Amino acid sequence: MPSLRAALSDLATRELDLLVIGGGITGAGILRDAAMRGLSVGLVEQGDFAAGTSSRSSRLIHGGLRYLEHYQWRLVFEALRERAVLLRIAPHLVRPITFVVPAYRGDRIPRWKLAAGLGLYGLLAIGGNVARPRMFGKAGLLILEPGLRVRGLRGGGLYHDAQCDDARLVIATLRSGLTHGGRAANYARVTGLVSEGGKVVGVEAHDLLTGDRATIRARAVINATGPWVDTLRRMEDPGVPALLRLSSGAHVVVPRDRLGHTNAITFTSSVDGRVMFILPWGSLSYIGTTETDFTRSPEQVTASQEEVRYLLRSANALFPQAHLGEEDVLATWAGVRPLLAGHPNVPAGAVSREHRIVRGSQGMITVAGGKLTTYRRMAAETVAMALSGLPPDAAAQYREAPPTDWEPLPGGESAVFDPFIQTGLDLGLPPATVERLVHRYGTETAAVYNLIREDRRLLQPIHPDHLAIGAEVVQVTRRELAVRVEDVLDRRIHLGTETGDGGRAAAPAVAALMGRELGWDADRIAREAAPPPPGTATAEPPDRVSFPGLSLGSDPEGTGVL
Ligand code: FAD
Repeated sequence: MPSLRAALSDLATRELDLLVIGGGITGAGILRDAAMRGLSVGLVEQGDFAAGTSSRSSRLIHGGLRYLEHYQWRLVFEALRERAVLLRIAPHLVRPITFVVPAYRGDRIPRWKLAAGLGLYGLLAIGGNVARPRMFGKAGLLILEPGLRVRGLRGGGLYHDAQCDDARLVIATLRSGLTHGGRAANYARVTGLVSEGGKVVGVEAHDLLTGDRATIRARAVINATGPWVDTLRRMEDPGVPALLRLSSGAHVVVPRDRLGHTNAITFTSSVDGRVMFILPWGSLSYIGTTETDFTRSPEQVTASQEEVRYLLRSANALFPQAHLGEEDVLATWAGVRPLLAGHPNVPAGAVSREHRIVRGSQGMITVAGGKLTTYRRMAAETVAMALSGLPPDAAAQYREAPPTDWEPLPGGESAVFDPFIQTGLDLGLPPATVERLVHRYGTETAAVYNLIREDRRLLQPIHPDHLAIGAEVVQVTRRELAVRVEDVLDRRIHLGTETGDGGRAAAPAVAALMGRELGWDADRIAREAAPPPPGTATAEPPDRVSFPGLSLGSDPEGTGVL
């Protein structure tokens, strides 16, 4: 696989079949689909891969029980089918999870309606059900979740869905596309479109790491920039009306033992009746999400104090013994949903999660809306539209749909992890570390073990409050397209949202290991190793890419990396 910078100069040397703008899950899915068809395809991303909405989701691969309330049967049906596909092709990253849904007297969704909804959810998953949903009385539900508020409890339900590591799913999807011949570069921002004869034939890209500028030409340009799609569309046609209605959503991370739950919980907030989740994540839990119309630029999204308080109040009302306070919050994250603009009077929570694919006045294809869960279908439809614009003989060559639903993503070649667990224990790793590795790297855990065999020092944890070890840093730098310390901390290893300091204590170790892999000089290592403390505002040079929505994540300003 060529280096990312080499990939960018390679993209600029020839005309591609397709160029994808945006390295979130949508763009990654398109790259993979197109590359598997044999098309020459490139992708440019202005930040790190997955640094936009695709690393800020609720991390659910789900049909979306709550969308049944809005009669979105088709969306739920399709998403449940995709859930089955993703459980198959990425069993290490996408894993079944059990949800408990308590029903309380006076809830907006009464018990009978919950029972009907769960039954329908089970039916819509035909063939791909993890297990059938069930209803329980009050006593039964309290056996499942003893910490739930007893007052007013009428029983509830249990169902299954899937949880995934969103950022790692993006990276794995991209890597699969690269092994099929696709090319991708991160920190490469599209600053303008190239038009000839009234048709978009390429883009101007600014390499934010080197300062270089390049023109990349392609027979079809695809705008997969999530919440930024309208900004890109206005480069093509300044007067075009918005396709999207943006809505922000925040999560808070707390130690799981503060809530004491075993399962994931779906509940209606006693504050305002909205459907919310409490989700287990190792020894942590995250609570989310909010849904607020958002009119600023997507990179400005953060979890506000008001949102944090609302999420904690909602969780405290459900788990009255928890008494969660702001001091319990380890981290927060917030993202911007790229929702299709519908009727302005519809609340953001009721706006459809469907997607739309449109061709602009100069031929650029935009894919808007959708969900993490349905990315594979969105990608297939987008590539099909791009093919319809190619000359018939060229399009015919690539029309056959590739097996994106069967070919495993990297690390997903087997769902049987026992041999990897045993090898890890034999190497002297603690059981919790082994479990962590297997659920992140799947079959590629073998490569992590090889690194440890070569250098036993890589067994060491890189942060005092986290299980991540040095070998992971080497692994993600070599194989997972990380080029900066924050790429590793925030999106490959998730220290940014799993430690109270945003992973900063690990930065020196991560910088040293990355420096060794990437040939950084001492100055660069020192700058990467010292991100400013969380919340420090620094002046931004015009082109610096920052994603403060990951509010405790590192801020690379001053690192001189670009
Ligand atoms: P993004 O991930 O935002 O990717 C677009 C990329 O384009 C960005 O990385 C950006 O940097 C890049 N870009 C922008 N402009 C340029 C430019 N000029 N040049 C180059 N690159 C550019 N879905 C689910 O299925 N399950 C869930 O549990 C779930 N929970 C969610 C919770 C929240 C709070 C939110 C906000 C969303 C959630 N979603 C969920 C929805 C899902 O996360 C999104 O639909 C999906 O991640 C969007 O992916 P994307 O690739 O379209 O956009």
